[in-house]
Amino acid sequence: MMTITLTCGDCGSAISVYPDSAAKTAECGICKHVEKVSFDEKQVAGILEDCPCCQRKDFYSQKDFNRKIGVMLFVIAAILSIWTYGLSFVVLYLFDFLLFKKLQKIAICYNCNTIFRSVTNIEEIPGFDHEMNDRIVYSGHDFEGKPLEH
Ligand SMILES: [Zn+2]
Ligand SMILES: [Zn+2]
Repeated sequence: MMTITLTCGDCGSAISVYPDSAAKTAECGICKHVEKVSFDEKQVAGILEDCPCCQRKDFYSQKDFNRKIGVMLFVIAAILSIWTYGLSFVVLYLFDFLLFKKLQKIAICYNCNTIFRSVTNIEEIPGFDHEMNDRIVYSGHDFEGKPLEH
């Protein structure tokens, strides 16, 4: 099932929700702020075409990489390299490579940064585009789901 992680508009905490056509709001577990959401049958089936939070159609996909874990592993490898003469970096590199290959892809809404996991049509969602991001975030442009052609 598709899982959705919203960002609380008040305190910035992550709010996790599942698509449910009966749900109209999602409440922040930290500050009780209520975000409006709206789901249709498509999202319940895991198909991402409209954002349930901001109703836009512009998304990008990326690997579900946890940056914090990455930094932590790098620090551990750096400490260990003193005794292993740098061998720990080779291990880290291999580990990273294997981990990265196994990672799932996630989709993210350009406009409101909501994260979608287990999206059925993830292969149809293009990667991050700086120009689209700038135009959506800074000029409020709505691409209506049609990616920029270069
Ligand atoms: Zn909150
Ligand atoms: Zn959105």
